[in-house]
Amino acid sequence: MIAASETTLTSRKNPFAPDENLQIWMNGRLMPEREARVSVFDHGFLYGDGVFEGIRVYNGKIFKEAEHIERIFESAKCILLDIPVTRDELSAAMRQAMQANDVYDGYIRLLVTRGVGLLGISIDKAACPSVIVIAATIQLYPPELYERGLKCVTAGTLRNHPSTTSPRVKSLNYLNNVMAKAEAKYAGADEAIMLNQNGYVTEGTGDNLFVIRRETLFTPPTSCGILDGITRRLVMKLGRKRGYEVKESLLIRHDVYSADECFLTGTAAEIIPVISLDGRSVGDGTPGPITKLLMGDFVEYRNSAS
Ligand code: PMP
Repeated sequence: MIAASETTLTSRKNPFAPDENLQIWMNGRLMPEREARVSVFDHGFLYGDGVFEGIRVYNGKIFKEAEHIERIFESAKCILLDIPVTRDELSAAMRQAMQANDVYDGYIRLLVTRGVGLLGISIDKAACPSVIVIAATIQLYPPELYERGLKCVTAGTLRNHPSTTSPRVKSLNYLNNVMAKAEAKYAGADEAIMLNQNGYVTEGTGDNLFVIRRETLFTPPTSCGILDGITRRLVMKLGRKRGYEVKESLLIRHDVYSADECFLTGTAAEIIPVISLDGRSVGDGTPGPITKLLMGDFVEYRNSAS
């Protein structure tokens, strides 16, 4: 079944007009998109003060629901934001939004903002956090790119320093990532790989990174400043289940240039091959065999989990 609404969260017939069929869950009730408005005094809007999650729905079931709910509560705690609903209420809200929009295979965007307040960044100036659930569909990359693989460049914009708001907090402040993605666009690439303050490879702009060398999978540790990706965790398990060694190691660009294979993982992208970085082909410049194997394992896992 497809969503009754015309909206995918990445494309719609007219991006400037509200979708009359799209129902948004906002602060306790469903409402048409045209009514689902955020105040100009919401600190989420004013300061990027809030947290979010992107979640998949496969075969009518919310994929890795407990992990996403856990992560949004952890993100919120780290920015001193009290989510004004319980985990169960959040889960029920997602179900209501899915049902209202006939989302059977789709994507949920969950947001909690600091809420409406006075101007000024003090968290005391916004007392009532806002909870929003958007349920629709998504297509991050076109199917051809999964066949061909992504051409990537290293971004000049660094991933947030772990001693700023940690990259483990999935906050509404994605400006570095937005800029890095723009760098990829202007370089004619599909995606950017971001480094940290010490020059180590961290991740893509919205996905975690793996390289494979001599049948061992390597991925940067969370301590180097990445989101602790839920798909990353799953892929580490799938890799081990296949009998491969999986290591969390500091990586430099050389490790990607000289890898046999490379791929990115994320809720929206799932697993997508990387075939080049900064003009150097990874392996033979086509999606690698272990990457393809894991892509198959992922599809099997998500079908059996739902
Ligand atoms: N890194 C960043 C910066 C992200 O925003 C995301 C989520 N889109 C990921 C990695 C992947 O995380 P997950 O597998 O939990 O979606």
